[in-house]
Amino acid sequence: MIRSEILREIAPILRDELVVCNIGLPSQELHMIDDQPTNFYMLGTMGLSSSIGLGLALAQDKTVISIDGDGSVLTNLGTLPTIANNVADNFILLIIDNGSYGSTGDQPTYAGKKTSLTAVAKACGCDNVVEVQDKDLGPVLQAAIDGKKQTVIVCKCDSGNIKLPVITMDPVVIRDRFMKAVAG
Ligand SMILES: [Mg+2]
Repeated sequence: MIRSEILREIAPILRDELVVCNIGLPSQELHMIDDQPTNFYMLGTMGLSSSIGLGLALAQDKTVISIDGDGSVLTNLGTLPTIANNVADNFILLIIDNGSYGSTGDQPTYAGKKTSLTAVAKACGCDNVVEVQDKDLGPVLQAAIDGKKQTVIVCKCDSGNIKLPVITMDPVVIRDRFMKAVAG
């Protein structure tokens, strides 16, 4: 499965949760598949989906799911020890690990070579780290939501992109409706 197929499959699980989504194609895909005011589409700041999500989870009680990529986590590797040492049991980091920088043309990442982000997350001290194959993600994600324990999920999948439009919604609108959803 490629990332867009995974997002399509888990969209019903994500629908009622606060979701911070990685810049570029992941946000465009989620927006196209199931746009919700509870989705925060990042239009900048590569690598910071996990950091924004953790901060939001620490600041309030609702479940927050950060959808990130292997390339973005490698860009901001300091996020994993930060997550490990600032536990928010309402926070789930979902790393869709396709072994490539998808949004820039599928150049290979080190996560698709010798570096295991699962092993890195565990070594950083993250308590609940689950590696899962693409087709098995749905139940694992639902269990993480229901379990109310901070969880890092590394979902291994194929690289590949679909053609789709950019998000034309004004960033201020994305921010404002998300803030209302957080407060609501
Ligand atoms: Mg990737």
